[in-house]
Amino acid sequence: MVKAAVVCSEELWQTGHGENHPLRPERLRRGYELLTAYEAFDGQHSRLIPARPATTEELLLFHSEEYVRAVQSLSHGESEYAPGRYNFGPGDNPVFEGMYELAALKVGAALVATELVTSGEADVAFSLAGGMHHARPNYAHGFCIFNDVAVIIHSMLSRGLKVAYVDIDVHHGDGVQEAFYDTDRVLTVSVHESGSFIFPGTGFVRETGQGVGRGFAVNLPLAPHTDDEVYVWAFEQVVPPLLEWFGPDVVVSQLGVDTHYLDPLAHLTLTTQGYTKVVSMIKNLAPRWIAFGGGGYEASVMPRAWTLAYGIMSDIEFPDELPPAYAAKYGPGTLRDPDKPHVEPRTKDVARRHAALAISELKERIPGLRP
Ligand SMILES: [Zn+2]
Repeated sequence: MVKAAVVCSEELWQTGHGENHPLRPERLRRGYELLTAYEAFDGQHSRLIPARPATTEELLLFHSEEYVRAVQSLSHGESEYAPGRYNFGPGDNPVFEGMYELAALKVGAALVATELVTSGEADVAFSLAGGMHHARPNYAHGFCIFNDVAVIIHSMLSRGLKVAYVDIDVHHGDGVQEAFYDTDRVLTVSVHESGSFIFPGTGFVRETGQGVGRGFAVNLPLAPHTDDEVYVWAFEQVVPPLLEWFGPDVVVSQLGVDTHYLDPLAHLTLTTQGYTKVVSMIKNLAPRWIAFGGGGYEASVMPRAWTLAYGIMSDIEFPDELPPAYAAKYGPGTLRDPDKPHVEPRTKDVARRHAALAISELKERIPGLRP
């Protein structure tokens, strides 16, 4: 029987980017509420574990000392550091009170998940609030302040573990890719909407790593309107063969669901069915597994997608009808998408050819994809 855990605490949605920011705290609260309404943590092999704040020392596994101090200072309303120097300001990365504590708690949640999985206490641990894949050592980027993913991968590398990172968020996992661009001890794979159409504008096939890391950074960019069928097919061509070739001790995955057709920030056309197929494939490839909630900005989708993902992790089959306690608050509905959007055959054909071209280029550039 698989032992699964969700790492989450209420403090994770008590402060945040504010109700008008896409990364509003409500998304997290709803995810947690749906899982608890399904009694997801009542079984013998499924647990809810609280987060703890990361220490400064742990943040320094990836971040610069100056940046950690600046976030701390800005978070407490001091004016010693210029926000713009660290990419804070109105828009994507506003300064808000308590942002240091919140960002450090997200990293701590990731570290708790890592401890659970590497100690063997859990086979899989899921940090709902995590997956801050854009943050850099010395600046904030794309809603991300501290990069929890990069911190835990560094902590596992220092213990001699081999780590594969699989990022299915609709946005390129640029911060994580960059963090391990020149090493062959971490394989990073990002499947996303092409940077020609969307933030952060990177993640092309030609980005393959450097030095000994060449061939260990892999990007599969997809065209707008890519649907379940094309996405799942493309994922299958790239990710399973790469992970089999690499043979990681641990798989870290960022399970952003901003690939969904209702998501307001991107243009892919996935449903929860395509999403869960891919999450199941990751499960089958992961000897040990640390997962992150990542992006997803449509409040009616994200809690359902995360619940479905946790169902796959924990081998729990949740009934399709949303539980009464949750439905009473947010309206009735089903856990799985009841229908799928119509994609014009011509559009679908463009998406398929875009993916096929990327895959054939990858096969030329990435040794792990050669037969
Ligand atoms: Zn995203």
